[in-house]
Amino acid sequence: MPTVDDQVCAHEAGHAVIGLAVGMQLHSIEAINNRPLDSHLSDSIKRALVTNFSTPIEDVEERLRHLVIAAGMAGEAIFSGKRYEEIGKDDLVRLGNAGLSENQIKKLITLGADDVLHPNHALFEDIWNSELDALEHNCPALAIAQK
Ligand SMILES: [Zn+2]
Repeated sequence: MPTVDDQVCAHEAGHAVIGLAVGMQLHSIEAINNRPLDSHLSDSIKRALVTNFSTPIEDVEERLRHLVIAAGMAGEAIFSGKRYEEIGKDDLVRLGNAGLSENQIKKLITLGADDVLHPNHALFEDIWNSELDALEHNCPALAIAQK
């Protein structure tokens, strides 16, 4: 049975791998012990991870930007076949604010999981494991080496 940390790591690994796939430079994945003030996440999520890219998301083409935002939920889908609305709440709000319908969001998640994460499963697992390790040892930030 996956823990909340397992799920959070799968979510963030999804953002990281799909960001890399669309050509973004990954800077780090940061563990934060407080939820951001503007977060819609529930109190049940005590620890969060944030994926930081060196490439500003504004520089990414709109459709790919939406894919990167949906990528966390794709990560969860690949990990356990489930979607955790709790962890993806902020992303759902962002995609909704961008004008995407529930159906369009669902399609993006499926696309990200099947066409990007599935073929890059080894990288996804590497990042997922490093994240879990960082959380276990309370490392503040996890630097990812660029391939
Ligand atoms: Zn997310």
